[in-house]
Amino acid sequence: MQKVYLDNAATTPMHPEVIDAMADCMRNVYGNPSSTHVFGREAKAQMELSRKKIAEKLEVSPTEIIFTSCGTESNNFIIRSCVEHLGVQRIITSTLEHKCVKETTAEMENVRNIEVLRVGLDEWGSIDYEDLKTKLESSDKKTLVTLMHANNEIGNLLDVKRVQALCEENNALFHTDTVQTLGHYPLNLHELGIDFASCSAHKLHGPKGAGFAYVKKSIQFKPQITGGGQERNLRSGTENVYGIVGMAKAFEMSINDLEAHRAHIEGLKKYTIEQLKEAIPGVSFNGLSADLEKSLYTVLNIRLPFYNSLIGFELELKGIAVSQGSACSSGAAKVSAVIESILTPEQIENTTPIRVSFSCYNTREDIDRLVSVLKQISEKHLVSA
Ligand code: PLP
Repeated sequence: MQKVYLDNAATTPMHPEVIDAMADCMRNVYGNPSSTHVFGREAKAQMELSRKKIAEKLEVSPTEIIFTSCGTESNNFIIRSCVEHLGVQRIITSTLEHKCVKETTAEMENVRNIEVLRVGLDEWGSIDYEDLKTKLESSDKKTLVTLMHANNEIGNLLDVKRVQALCEENNALFHTDTVQTLGHYPLNLHELGIDFASCSAHKLHGPKGAGFAYVKKSIQFKPQITGGGQERNLRSGTENVYGIVGMAKAFEMSINDLEAHRAHIEGLKKYTIEQLKEAIPGVSFNGLSADLEKSLYTVLNIRLPFYNSLIGFELELKGIAVSQGSACSSGAAKVSAVIESILTPEQIENTTPIRVSFSCYNTREDIDRLVSVLKQISEKHLVSA
């Protein structure tokens, strides 16, 4: 059976060149980067070269890149450090953030008594910029705004320039979770004036277990993990040298091939929308995901016009992997918090959301297979309804 992988927002297959770079590093560069002998110095050199490569591609300073283990850790590090080391007393965020931001801000609210405000959303799941402005202007407390650049489920893109301008006017710090966008968009963090951003290598054809936090040079954090003083004493622990080497290779490839990959993937997304509209009467799309200008080009959140909590399972039986929220104990999928935030209870009862997410490795044949299987499932439902 032809297997189709359409869950690239969850993770991406590694580029063969990334695997080669990592394998070479594993074989030949096994020293501890903190050791002073030649083996250690070699490992340290590989790591710093990787940092330099990433920084060059992002047009930032290497000292602004702090290696971590993943996007979750990067976001935790930034939010916790803002509260613990920069005196942030208020956080403005949204209900659509990834759990690693949502739960961390909730902890700041419940355990550390930080005031947390959640901005209003429109029916498409986009943030209400006027509400953000009002909230920012409503207090002089030291504030951090944390809003994701692109939503991983419905793909909505944030107007980062607009948010940055509002933060600057109101003297607030600005963190944006760029896990789904760094390496996919030509982001110039200095020009945008963002204070903090985050990256995860496995979202851009790199290895799992490697990520980084971008922290603007002028901002002084203290360590969250203490011990050996690695990462300029910001994150102790022996570094994941081959993961970092793989991440740098993946990042470099993503930026070098960005326009070609974007054109290919955008073409696939447009094709998917057209084919689905033709095959399934009443199909629609959640959030702004069908708006090619206003959404992440790698994500499409399909709203099927019937309820089927086992659709992920049915697609899997046909060899197709997509995302359908988290599974509950019966094997059926629970509606995600993001979908719950933007749909009415009636829409939730009568439709089925599925997220398909593309990469440069997907083809039109993958889409034809997806659409054909979804058409069969839909016809079965419409007949039995
Ligand atoms: N932020 C967003 C927007 C994500 O999509 C993800 C992963 O799905 C994360 C953070 C967490 O990244 P990681 O899997 O590297 O911890």
